[in-house]
Amino acid sequence: MKAKIVLLPGDGIGPEIVTQATRVLETVAKKHGHEFAFESYQIGGIAIDTCGDPLPQETIDACRASDAILLGAVGGPKWDDPSAKTRPEAGLLKIRKELGLFANLRPIRLFDQLVDASPLRREIIEGTDILFFRELTGGIYFGESGRTGSGTTEAAFQSMVYSVGEVERIVRLAAKAAQGRDNRLTSVDKANVLEPSRLWRQVAARVMADEFPDVQYDVVLVDAMAMHLINRPRDFDVVVTGNMFGDILTDEASMLPGSLGMLPSASLGESGPGLYEPIHGSAPDIAGKDIANPLATILAAAMLLRHSLDLDAEAESVESAVASVLEDGLRTSDIARGAASIGTEAMGSAVVARLSN
Ligand code: NAD
Repeated sequence: MKAKIVLLPGDGIGPEIVTQATRVLETVAKKHGHEFAFESYQIGGIAIDTCGDPLPQETIDACRASDAILLGAVGGPKWDDPSAKTRPEAGLLKIRKELGLFANLRPIRLFDQLVDASPLRREIIEGTDILFFRELTGGIYFGESGRTGSGTTEAAFQSMVYSVGEVERIVRLAAKAAQGRDNRLTSVDKANVLEPSRLWRQVAARVMADEFPDVQYDVVLVDAMAMHLINRPRDFDVVVTGNMFGDILTDEASMLPGSLGMLPSASLGESGPGLYEPIHGSAPDIAGKDIANPLATILAAAMLLRHSLDLDAEAESVESAVASVLEDGLRTSDIARGAASIGTEAMGSAVVARLSN
């Protein structure tokens, strides 16, 4: 297969971790006879420095013409001035919007070798493997907002709006993903209080009954879900939810494995390229020191193989290679818990070596 992959290294540790993930993709291509063409473009702070725009038009054009996009991270203290005209994060929001990326996927998978890094006890967390689908471009974050009145009667409002079409498309994506996993889908809402949640629940139930009768489907209220994630995370396979609930629940869930440096994410649209990135930020405190953990970005590259290029076996080989380096005791300092550690490049080389075998 031939694929055009746009690299957006961004700021801070972004270039270091994207370099390692690119080596991994090159190794996969070589081993399995694929041709991946990589092109690098600017986003975030570095793009502001170069041309005053966190998302230059040529980056947008290149992303549109690609099969998939691999992003490092954006931002850093250099661009934090609150009075600045624009910020690096604006580039990230804009690229998601430009490409219609309405679904944010976050796998919360615990590698057996890192179970002790979790803040939860082994018997609760062991075996956890959840795939979240968060709706990304609708709901309360994009609803009408404003202020009325003055003095003590001044009030603020923000509307939560979901349309039938917005719910249908994300539920479909999540249900399809469930079919490729353990065939279970949980929809999370607040239908006991919120009208948009009642619509969400109605539409989700119809889509599941009409199109995915084989998928085991249930619904959970968001407040109960916040508890279940801590109490019985193993019980969930694929979880689908709206923008705000997903924002909060995925951050809660990201703490379960105990290390930010291990968690990838993907943002997908109905068609066109998907965007793959680690969930952590640009870690300016450790940038340029060759100590950042590249595994989240390498696992994001595995998601890219699976979701944008349909290369499931290749994706699994990358995930197995990561498990294998961990099994061999190799750790970057963020997951070493005081034991000996290796650097960013050495960790990338270890994964590449397992893949080349
Ligand atoms: P951060 O995720 O960058 O860092 C939090 C802590 O985790 C730091 O101590 C960092 O050293 C450590 N860390 C993060 N990734 C690591 C890795 N791969 N290996 C080892 N250690 C790692 O969050 P922050 O410090 O709050 O934000 C720093 C900058 O990143 C800010 O400008 C923020 O706006 C930006 N940010 C960007 C994104 C993104 O690009 N998607 C997401 C979050 C934050």
